[in-house]
Amino acid sequence: MRLYNQITKSIETFKPLDPQNVKIYTCGPTVYNFAHIGNLTSYIYWDFLIRTLERNGFKVNRVLNLTDVGHLASDADEGEDKLEKGAKREGKTVWEIADFYSKAFLKDFHSLNLIEPQKIARATDYIKEDIALVDKLTEKGYTYETSDGIYFDTSKFSTYADFARLDLEKMRAGARVEFNQEKKNTADFAVWKFIKDGEDHAMKWEYLGRPGYPGWHLECSTIIKAELGIPIDIHTGGIDHIPVHHTNEIAQTEAAFDTKLSRFWLHCNFITIDEQKISKSLGNTYTLSDLAEKGFSPLDFKLWVLQGHYQGERNFSFTDLTAAKNRRLNWRNRIAATYQDIALEQNPPFEASKALEFASNNLNSSEILAYIDNTTLTLDDWKYIDNLLGLDLVPSTPNQTPNLIDKISQREAARAKKDYATADDIRDELAKQSITILDTDKGPIWQLLA
Ligand code: AMP
Ligand code: ZN
Repeated sequence: MRLYNQITKSIETFKPLDPQNVKIYTCGPTVYNFAHIGNLTSYIYWDFLIRTLERNGFKVNRVLNLTDVGHLASDADEGEDKLEKGAKREGKTVWEIADFYSKAFLKDFHSLNLIEPQKIARATDYIKEDIALVDKLTEKGYTYETSDGIYFDTSKFSTYADFARLDLEKMRAGARVEFNQEKKNTADFAVWKFIKDGEDHAMKWEYLGRPGYPGWHLECSTIIKAELGIPIDIHTGGIDHIPVHHTNEIAQTEAAFDTKLSRFWLHCNFITIDEQKISKSLGNTYTLSDLAEKGFSPLDFKLWVLQGHYQGERNFSFTDLTAAKNRRLNWRNRIAATYQDIALEQNPPFEASKALEFASNNLNSSEILAYIDNTTLTLDDWKYIDNLLGLDLVPSTPNQTPNLIDKISQREAARAKKDYATADDIRDELAKQSITILDTDKGPIWQLLA
């Protein structure tokens, strides 16, 4: 299996340290709002990664975090706390906000048929570990204290700039003067924030005799250490994480434990919508409910995502989503025909090993989809595909309408008697259940309309 590795910036053969315990960590969402389709795109790519690893015979042990502790709206340790912002918006407590949007996220996760990680870790359950990590960094001389928190001194970690190929000199020159004068270096980041007198911050923990809360990169380091142990095999996230979040995660973990954090790093690119950035002000932060209102299932969207590649920039449009929906419907109808033993196709036979080869080549899902379009699949092949792509194509009960076959026979009998009124009634009744009857030269077969 070959994967792109952010560390070496090249595609490499992936070999886990222990094939029975492939340790994977995915940076999860901040649970202060519904996930939009851009956020969900990333988890769809990683679901395909997990499925590909499993098909290759590896046993995956994956952790995903939910950032339920307030952190700041910008990467620069400044700005408004996202959970506090959500609480103000909805007149709820930060805890209620975190609980509500964690549940909403997991609901989206399931409706996209994403394999649940072995562990979903909430950041607020790891505060003790966060504090222990700050203590360790301080003991080893990597931190310094300012009036508003404890900072990691990036100048003490000599490889700080390497991962993201940062130009620290340029960053220093470009830094705003008014910006946190107490920081020693532009890239230094808070590992712990103090709550100043009079400052309104609902989530707080006691450390060094005063209330505060962890810096936002900290949770990933402590959760990985506690739940998986380092080094892990694969760390995933979005490209936005490369210059700050992951760079800082690497610095603080490797400085504290003198061990590599992750052997492979995979980052997904961003999607735009109608060639524009996803943003509240443009009103294009579509959620799965928005798609449902427009008649699209979460799995139509999942197929749209799998038509692209995690490293590529993608543009979303409803026209393309409609095409993905039709493609999925077409596949489900090919399966319906297979159930009815009607071979409608004359394509070469599908080979599972070929599909897995595409997947194993740096997660090339689009090539698998084209291959599906151009080959004839048996029911077992479709089940294999479902397992690999997670598109819920094969129904667990093939004849969704229990009396479907009876209905088709009744219609045939009515037509034979030239009782077209009854035949039409049956057709209308089935249409209400999104089923149509096709009269083929091999006899009538049922197909799905949606
Ligand atoms: P957040 O909850 O803001 O931390 O975002 C959750 C995940 O969604 C992160 O991994 C981001 O990289 C990812 N993400 C946010 N916007 C987009 C987008 N437009 N396209 C793809 N991924 C995105
Ligand atoms: Zn993270």
